[in-house]
Amino acid sequence: MLTLNIGLDDTDSPRGGCTTHLCAVLVELLSKLKVKFRDYPLLIRLNPNVPFKTRGNGAVCLRLEVEKKAVDVIKELVLKEVSRLADLSFSGTDPGVAFLLGDIPAELRRLSEQAMCDMVSLNEAFRIAEKCGAEIHTFKEGRGIIGALAAIGETLEDDYTYELITYRVPENWGKPRAIDIESVKEMDRLTSPDTFNNIDDDRVLIAPHGPDPVLYGVRGESPEVLLKAYKLVKVHEPIERWVIFRSNQGTDAHLRVKRKICNAHPYMSAVIEGVVSSKPVVSQGGHVFVKIRDDTGEINCAAYEPAGSFRWVISDLIPGDVVRVYGGIRPPSLSHPKTLNLEKIEIVKLAPNLKLHNPICPNCGKRTSSAGRGQGFKCKKCGKKIFAEKVTVELARRITESIYIPPPRAQRHLTRPYSRLNRKNAPPIKLLDPWHFP
Ligand code: ATP
Repeated sequence: MLTLNIGLDDTDSPRGGCTTHLCAVLVELLSKLKVKFRDYPLLIRLNPNVPFKTRGNGAVCLRLEVEKKAVDVIKELVLKEVSRLADLSFSGTDPGVAFLLGDIPAELRRLSEQAMCDMVSLNEAFRIAEKCGAEIHTFKEGRGIIGALAAIGETLEDDYTYELITYRVPENWGKPRAIDIESVKEMDRLTSPDTFNNIDDDRVLIAPHGPDPVLYGVRGESPEVLLKAYKLVKVHEPIERWVIFRSNQGTDAHLRVKRKICNAHPYMSAVIEGVVSSKPVVSQGGHVFVKIRDDTGEINCAAYEPAGSFRWVISDLIPGDVVRVYGGIRPPSLSHPKTLNLEKIEIVKLAPNLKLHNPICPNCGKRTSSAGRGQGFKCKKCGKKIFAEKVTVELARRITESIYIPPPRAQRHLTRPYSRLNRKNAPPIKLLDPWHFP
């Protein structure tokens, strides 16, 4: 038997489709061929800060165990389904398919690590594919080959989560989703924190809003809890199929590499350690900006309006606070310098918030006011004049030395939620029965 890894990406467009749906269709067809799955299909999110993505920069990988004589049949089936289901007439859709036999070479793992937090060029992807002996198929410009190879190269050894995704029948694509909101709340109550990011206040987060075939997806720590969640969520429309994916969602996989400010380039996802070097500014639109400095320079950091209460953490920073900031580097524009769009902040050391106050009147205990330049202070109540220095007082801080992340509705797919801050999953992987339908 041989291990066949299949990577797919860039098959959908904003007007429809989803690479995970194509993968779910392949799961059905491959099951009919009695193919052995070595793992759940992998849903690998790549650098969320690249400009080419349609939505969440997701790519997929199937790891199969097959007989040598079946390899060509499977490759042909995959390529046929990509041609049939990819939105090839959309100008930005450039599918890529990669096949790799055997173990994952170190170069491919490195490509995946780079694709998670930085940009990868198409030429680099071609070069690595050739070096690793991966067979690649490009449709149109074939940019999807980057994601396809990166999905194969992600071995999820450090941490992972699962997502059960349900899909709609084609007649319903584009129509409002008929999901019973109360049942989602009940599911959340009965399964979280083993499931996460189901709702935020009263907002349901498991369902997308676009014309894609996804009805809803529940994320969690184990396939078992996702099957339980699936049974609890009530819907008023048919479910055409569902699949449990293993994923790097909720693991902060894109926020592992520390950068110096001078090396933080546009479109990277970066972690920067530094000291707050400006007072935070709240703009008219409610966005909050603050500057951070390290020994190589200074960078503007931003928390935007949708980040809700996370912005007030940023606005409570003061110069001198030592922080670790996490986020995507946005290129400079006419109105803004190069900016790190904040996805998370760790407050490492709070600076003392010192204020100078006028002294207290020794007679009546009221705070004095200035009696004029060089004239000392005067109590407004009893009129006593005193000659003393201003006193330094340390004001309490509202924020603490801890990690802050935006609310679930403003998180990236890759963001590690509060419920996972001290949690990791590790192999072995066991395929649940059932893990897909049909
Ligand atoms: P969906 O979430 O619906 O699957 P998407 O947001 O994943 O859509 P795609 O249609 O897959 O968007 O397009 C992303 C494109 O960006 C793909 O062609 C992929 O190969 C490419 N890509 C992904 N990561 C990188 C990277 N780090 N550097 C350069 N290109 C990348």
